[in-house]
Amino acid sequence: MTPMMAQFLEIKAQYKDALLFYRMGDFYEMFFEDAVAAAEALDIALTKRGKHQGEDIPMCGVPVHAAENYLLTLIRKGFRVAVCEQLESPAEAKKRGYKSVVKRDVVRLVTPGTLTEETLLEARKHNYLVAYSNIRDDGALAWVDISTGELHVTPCPQVKISPELARLAPREVLVSDNNLNALEGIAAEVGASVTALAPGSFDSASASARLTKFFSVKSTDAFGQFSRPEISALGALLDYLELTQKGQLPSIRPPVREDHRSIMQIDPATRRNLEITQTIQGERKGSLLSVIDRTMTAGGARLLFKRLSAPLVTVDPLHQRLACVTYFVDQPYAIEPVRDTLRKIPDIDRALSRLSVERGGPRDLAAIRDGLDHASRMSDLFPSTETPEILTNALASTVGHDDIVSHLSEALVAEPPLLARDGGFVSAGYDPDLDEARKLRDDGRKVIAELQATYSGDTGISALKIKHNNVLGYFIETPAGHASKMMSEPLSTQFIHRQTTANAVRFTTNDLSELETKILNAGERALSIEARVFAELQQRVVEAANQIGAVADALAEIDLYAAFADLAIEKNWCKPSVDTSRIFDVVDGRHPVVEAALQAENSGPFVANSCDLTARENSAAIWLLTGPNMAGKSTFLRQNALIALLAQIGSYVPATSAHIGLVSQLFSRVGASDDLARGRSTFMVEMVETAAILNQADERAMVILDEIGRGTATYDGLSIAWATLEHLHSANSCRALFATHYHELTALSESLPGVENATVTVKDWENEIIFLHEVRKGASDRSYGVQVAKLAGLPASVVDRARVVLDQLEAGEREGGGRSKELLDDLPLFSTAPAPQVTAAASSQVEDRLEDVIPDDLSPREALQLVYELKALA
Ligand code: ADP
Repeated sequence: MTPMMAQFLEIKAQYKDALLFYRMGDFYEMFFEDAVAAAEALDIALTKRGKHQGEDIPMCGVPVHAAENYLLTLIRKGFRVAVCEQLESPAEAKKRGYKSVVKRDVVRLVTPGTLTEETLLEARKHNYLVAYSNIRDDGALAWVDISTGELHVTPCPQVKISPELARLAPREVLVSDNNLNALEGIAAEVGASVTALAPGSFDSASASARLTKFFSVKSTDAFGQFSRPEISALGALLDYLELTQKGQLPSIRPPVREDHRSIMQIDPATRRNLEITQTIQGERKGSLLSVIDRTMTAGGARLLFKRLSAPLVTVDPLHQRLACVTYFVDQPYAIEPVRDTLRKIPDIDRALSRLSVERGGPRDLAAIRDGLDHASRMSDLFPSTETPEILTNALASTVGHDDIVSHLSEALVAEPPLLARDGGFVSAGYDPDLDEARKLRDDGRKVIAELQATYSGDTGISALKIKHNNVLGYFIETPAGHASKMMSEPLSTQFIHRQTTANAVRFTTNDLSELETKILNAGERALSIEARVFAELQQRVVEAANQIGAVADALAEIDLYAAFADLAIEKNWCKPSVDTSRIFDVVDGRHPVVEAALQAENSGPFVANSCDLTARENSAAIWLLTGPNMAGKSTFLRQNALIALLAQIGSYVPATSAHIGLVSQLFSRVGASDDLARGRSTFMVEMVETAAILNQADERAMVILDEIGRGTATYDGLSIAWATLEHLHSANSCRALFATHYHELTALSESLPGVENATVTVKDWENEIIFLHEVRKGASDRSYGVQVAKLAGLPASVVDRARVVLDQLEAGEREGGGRSKELLDDLPLFSTAPAPQVTAAASSQVEDRLEDVIPDDLSPREALQLVYELKALA
């Protein structure tokens, strides 16, 4: 085995579950299975290099300068990558002995949850790494975004893991080996990759030591009281960061404890259903988030995402947030200037985090400079000093950073290049040594020309030239005829002979060789001075990380409220009143996403609808909603859930007025649809999810059930819907909207005092159905299924036959006996119309007439009459 291969195998053995990027000169090479997997994932050539135990060694490689793109692809495809660098130059290795291998080691383990590079991150979304720990039956989740430095922890009993992970939408979840089975499925459901760590990483005693050391505090009590599982989860995060970042620890803010009881509980199915941050297809476009996001900064967008994922259930903070939106709504002229400034603000958080792990560049410094500079002018744009508390605090954080801004402004050029190693980012005049080095490098020619003029003047040889070639470097050349002048005459400079050619003689001088060394070194010297300046500036910024982070937080808050106000004004939304009652009274509510879609398609106005679900003490408030398909039932259900959600993140809501008694849990289920992908029978899924609601919903819950029971046979479905409604009413006593096509259920409103019937109105006009989309009290008269089917383009013959069957079934029901036997006997074997001939011409008059005919409705006499009529038309 070659020494290099031995080194490779030794390092690889420590990173079994990662691809090893093994640095060789300008390439990262991969070997063995890593090479096979990477070549396939990256679609690059797989070659071989040497042999190991008699077999070819598969190999592939990527150039270092393009490595980031390849990394991105690999991380997206679920790989982890250990980046192994050369820690010395080949020359240094040689000095240690003939044949010794260049020292290498892994400098970083790149995983989905530990990214900092701009190209690897989504700007408007956080990038969470989560750790779950449980000690006996007590569990906790801790999460960190190393690209922004925020760190949180919350208690988390087993049953809350799934909703909490759905809320956080992490990229990577850390668990102890012995919890792996329990978490793998849940994490996969939210699209996170799972990393199992040895139980030692979760040990709470060493976790505590790790935390106090990391934050340089005596005890974790400095940040509040944490339970053992909380400490353990936090410790596991830090342990993993040490493991993956190899000593370059990011700057992370002290842990903030979140109490899940202060956050609206929304389980994964509800999040999916309500399409809060992404649609059921997994896209951002078409989600509530995409319609309401008007933030100008990446930090503001991330804050909105976070708020939308975690609505509050406490009144005070909501009143404070709403006051901020109102501040802007009441002073609309302030919005544009504030947003114009925000638009120019770069992503301070992420620039800061890259600098703190020494992966930043000059542009990150410039981002901090520009961000802080714009921030400092923010408070001038606010029209009055009477700002609500949150804005007052935010504005206070935006000022007072002039020192660092002026330092960065003096040091950096306006638009620095991406990489520090290329130089060219420090302003002229900042560092005299640098200026000199650059002058020598850039003005090399000019300095040489000056020297040439001097020599030519001194010697009186106008043909004297200073030239350069690769063998001699810089030299002075004179025509052969003048050479003697330079050797003999008493000159102020001593010319040293270097070479004589056919026509010329070449000299050098001490000054020239000194100048030459200087010019050659100047470039390198300039780079090294710039590197030093970069390190100093970086340190300056990192030392101020807390203040700078606070500016970023403040800007995100300001951005969010200004964005909410902008939206509220343009869309005519109202300020909700929120309190601890169990009122839910929305007047003229609208569905923000459906409304936006209608507007985009120009397909008519959205019909606003009111909803009053005010619950009396100890009682439920349920609307049982009936109406044909396509009438707007689902839309109405969801719009009310979304209005509660928007109110509880502190936004205005799409309604003319809204009074929301805080909702602590939000549940939404849709009767079995196409959930085949998840491999469970759809009806089973529906029932499991319904069970979860009936078992969990308390009197502060809001429940939305859409066509529960439709996934099974009619009577089974009806019975299940019936019993579910009774349970919601009498056991859960919650506020609920229940859409169903079982008209039989409307009878329940007579026996259950908390249940009211409502219906979405339609008009039946000459057998055509017109959707009015108006919700009003009362039950719908019938289901109009056949009309809807006709509208959908079912062949006329099928629609007609369906009508006959429906009439007979309804008649049968009235007479109290099944008539399906009769219907079967009556099968219109020969009356089925042939498939319509599709021709380019308009249908003939005969066809038009026939269109209106229902054969089974015709008496023999009418039939005969018809034949005459048709004959006349033909
Ligand atoms: P249902 O649940 O009764 O089958 P949906 O809620 O899915 O009906 O609504 C069907 C379509 O009707 C929607 O996609 C939307 O285009 C339109 N719609 C629903 N509600 C309204 C409304 N209030 N105003 C205008 N159009 C509406």
